Amino acid sequence: MSKKILIIGAGPGGLTSGMILAHRGYDVTIVEKASVVGGRNAPIQAGDYTFDTGPTFLHQKFTLDEMFAEAGGRKPEDYMDFVKLDPMTTLSWSDTSLDTSFDQDKMKHNIEKAFPGESANYDRFMRDHAKKLRKIFPCLLNPYNKLSSYMQKHILKALPYVATTKSVMDVLDEYFTNDDLKIAFTFQAKYLGMSPWTCPALFSILAYIEYAHGIYHIQGGLSNISAGMAKVFQEEGGNLMLNTEVREISYQNDRAVAVELANGDKMNFDDLIINADYAQARHMIFGERNEPEEKLRKKKFSCSTYMLYLGLDTIYESEPHHHVIFADNYQQNLRDIQDGVKVSDDMSIYVRNSSITDPTVAPAGHSQLYILVPTINNRSGYTWEETQAEYREKVLDKIIERTGMKDLRDHIVEERSITPQDWQEADIFLGATFNLAHTMDQMLYFRPQNRMKGFENIYLVGGGTHPGSGLPTIYESARISSNMICESHGETPGRVDFATAILDQDIC
Ligand SMILES: Cc1cc2nc3c(=O)[nH]c(=O)nc-3n(C[C@H](O)[C@H](O)[C@H](O)COP(=O)(O)OP(=O)(O)OC[C@H]3O[C@@H](n4cnc5c(N)ncnc54)[C@H](O)[C@@H]3O)c2cc1C
Repeated sequence: MSKKILIIGAGPGGLTSGMILAHRGYDVTIVEKASVVGGRNAPIQAGDYTFDTGPTFLHQKFTLDEMFAEAGGRKPEDYMDFVKLDPMTTLSWSDTSLDTSFDQDKMKHNIEKAFPGESANYDRFMRDHAKKLRKIFPCLLNPYNKLSSYMQKHILKALPYVATTKSVMDVLDEYFTNDDLKIAFTFQAKYLGMSPWTCPALFSILAYIEYAHGIYHIQGGLSNISAGMAKVFQEEGGNLMLNTEVREISYQNDRAVAVELANGDKMNFDDLIINADYAQARHMIFGERNEPEEKLRKKKFSCSTYMLYLGLDTIYESEPHHHVIFADNYQQNLRDIQDGVKVSDDMSIYVRNSSITDPTVAPAGHSQLYILVPTINNRSGYTWEETQAEYREKVLDKIIERTGMKDLRDHIVEERSITPQDWQEADIFLGATFNLAHTMDQMLYFRPQNRMKGFENIYLVGGGTHPGSGLPTIYESARISSNMICESHGETPGRVDFATAILDQDIC
């Protein structure tokens, strides 16, 4: 009889494991407390407008391709429509702006126009980072359940890039002279909810990955990736239970044996995969093995985000698809976020205007804006009820001042918002939207491990385990944990590998 796997959560991590393990013949059930799949990657419906809750772009697409191939040689293109964006993102400072592109000639041209004399430095960055990524990438594909995992050949090769106290910004100081241009190659640390001035140097690969390989929109929204994965899972015979919340895990010694659902039902299994936010789950559903909040709070967490989702009765055709508007004093803005106490009035804002690419997310002639403001998580106890309305106005004022959307307020016909407190109420510990921080003492062996320490058959997937937050890394966490389960049952799963050839080609 095939082994029974229970997965708590139908976020990107849970769905990836679900489709891989169901394809490999396991009897897999995913229980999801929400009424839709996707977690932070689920859609939000507001009237006739469809928004993405969280992720708005996919990078490192070859990893998603690998996951669909792992599930029976499928291709994601058969489940969703990709648009490779060019320009990718408009980055704007108070006095200049840069359209980024994966087309290296175009990118060089745009850099030279906005930052004269710097384009040769871009060539050097790209050349060096092709090599850096090639060395670091293999370190992200395997589990770190033993300290001896560090003794593998690929880790030793990557050590010069990893074992350093330098930050991402220190790395960029070696390439560019203009401080704004350095930000164009470091703001990606925010994808991990971190500041480039403190984010470990190895993450300068994030800018390289997107500038070399591009970023993708999915028609209808990025949530269609999760919807596509759920379809594959069910095609492979997986059992998806929505509106089903796990309350508590029970054990026999170090083995988890059953979960109790909110409705009192019990479900047993051979192996348990947890996709729920790591710290929240560790605190809430481990039953007799719950960890106290005070202990979890000692870990470092990412920033949070204040979100606005606006349905408009117009389309701003000349506004970019992705627009990052940097604070006047970006470093101070990030310090405020890192210190975790003050909500910056001089905030940085990310605006996505996907209707210029995608007619399916709003009625004809209408559009929608997704607005994300990185901000403090809830560690300080800051409450948003009283300040939220005023903050909304400040965010809109800044967008109106720094974009062509001068009459924005006149066109808002639907609106939703999410504050850090709302994220916490949606089961995200401290409202830290990008999970545990990616500091060296919380990475690799020191991050909550793919097979949880102290338990024989509990596996983690998602942004809270190795390799970390962000869609491709989350997909990888799910493949790593799925492979560990297969190995625990005496199988030696092969590994679909599209990445090696692509990354090798980059260094030719
Ligand atoms: C605002 C925002 C923007 C982002 N933008 C990007 C981006 O553009 N690109 C990118 O690559 N990444 C982005 N990310 C990061 C990351 O890719 C997403 O957060 C991703 O959705 C996290 O996936 P996950 O698998 O860790 O789990 P989640 O998406 O958190 O899913 C966990 C699931 O578990 C369920 N669950 C929790 N507890 C229980 C329970 N007790 N019982 C049953 N079910 C339970 C939840 O309902 C949820 O569905 C963004 C994140 C946020 C928040």
